[in-house]
Amino acid sequence: MEIESPEEVAARLAETGLKKRVIKRLPISPYGPDVGIPATECPICLGEFEDGEKVRVLPKCNHGFHVRCIDTWLSSHSSCPTCRHSLLDQPELAGAAAAQPPATQEVAGAGG
Ligand SMILES: [Zn+2]
Ligand SMILES: [Zn+2]
Repeated sequence: MEIESPEEVAARLAETGLKKRVIKRLPISPYGPDVGIPATECPICLGEFEDGEKVRVLPKCNHGFHVRCIDTWLSSHSSCPTCRHSLLDQPELAGAAAAQPPATQEVAGAGG
């Protein structure tokens, strides 16, 4: 039985889309001075955000995208397209990469 390292698990999950219900839970804000995202354009389609346009703001990194753009992205990825920050809940990741007890090796007959 193969055991994945936490890095391997993260890499595999990053290539897996989020569930629709998870995507839907991400907050949507109308674009404006108060939205609190650094970008003025959508990194996915490179279109400028217009005032009042609905943008989805990722809670973990504050990157914003058009709702339709990020929804499409997240259907096949689980990380932010800008900074690759994983959007998966940590407990899910931690559960998949459950800590394994370190194997102890007895050194027998060591002479020197
Ligand atoms: Zn876009
Ligand atoms: Zn990000």
